[in-house]
Amino acid sequence: MDEFSFIESIRQKTYNQPSLIKGIGDDAAVFRQRHQDIVTAVDTFVEDIHFSKQTMQAYHIGYRILAANLSDMAAMGAKPAYYLVSIVVPEHWSMEELSDIFKGMKTLASRYDIDLIGGDTVSGDKLMISITVIGFADENKVRFRHNAKVGDIVFVTGTLGDSQAGLYILMNPGSYKSEAYYIKKHQMPEPQVVFSNYLQKVPRLALNDISDGIANETAEIAEASKVIITLNESDIPTSSDYHQFPKNLQQQWKYYGGEDFEIMGTLPESDWRHVKEMAELHGVKVTQIGKVTKACETGRVYINNNDKINMLPRKGYTHLK
Ligand code: ADP
Ligand code: MG
Repeated sequence: MDEFSFIESIRQKTYNQPSLIKGIGDDAAVFRQRHQDIVTAVDTFVEDIHFSKQTMQAYHIGYRILAANLSDMAAMGAKPAYYLVSIVVPEHWSMEELSDIFKGMKTLASRYDIDLIGGDTVSGDKLMISITVIGFADENKVRFRHNAKVGDIVFVTGTLGDSQAGLYILMNPGSYKSEAYYIKKHQMPEPQVVFSNYLQKVPRLALNDISDGIANETAEIAEASKVIITLNESDIPTSSDYHQFPKNLQQQWKYYGGEDFEIMGTLPESDWRHVKEMAELHGVKVTQIGKVTKACETGRVYINNNDKINMLPRKGYTHLK
């Protein structure tokens, strides 16, 4: 299969988005959008750095890369609409594997009605995929990191550390409880796009997605909003079989294990009940994990462990005794 028949094979025969004027097939794609803020992000993934054939099939690689991009849209409160894929293909990847990468993306894309409207295909030494995603948000409704204020509740969706637990299982084969659950969390994470969009009614919300661990994501909000955020160690949600993993890894993953693609954020206490109701209605787990406690020029995160309060550093491993 040459470049042209490959592009023909990934081209959507029909498109979902009403604003699309031209998808794949010209020098550039065109859509027309009125009265909405356009939100866009790009992520690049390189073989053996961001993913490896050892723990993921081609299908999972495609799925997970698009999931990471959609998660950025969720973190902005935007509805994803389009994506473009730039891919560098080395000789040791077969056409079939390449098709599977796109199948993985398509599975997720069709679930959210988003359209593949362009990209670029070239050959090179290492598999590299770069996805650009475009989404829409109602005017002035984007959920910036700088939106947090003193007194806000801090919350997170789902449970943390599961993706890293899945990777651990794949790298250390053995007998584990809920093995399929953890592996799925690693290979096919579900971005919180729908739930983020359900929070439209909340007037002010700071949001971030968990691509880099809760410690780092919380710090990003604290720094952008110039506040101190205090998290409670005992409130950080983990899955029911999580305690089967080595204790130090449990701590490491739940604070610094990224790629859970849950969302976390802050909002006024008066809106918390609405968020909990929306979560219950749509079967999403939400947990309050802390509060925005104080204004602070440099922004900081503390962790309260049985009334002992320590700094939660941004990166690296920390012993939380
Ligand atoms: P050009 O030479 O004008 O850049 P290309 O041959 O690169 O055109 O691409 C032809 C069409 O196929 C364009 O619409 C482009 O967006 C699309 N396309 C190329 N590669 C990809 C890809 N990997 N994923 C999605 N669309 C692609
Ligand atoms: Mg091109």
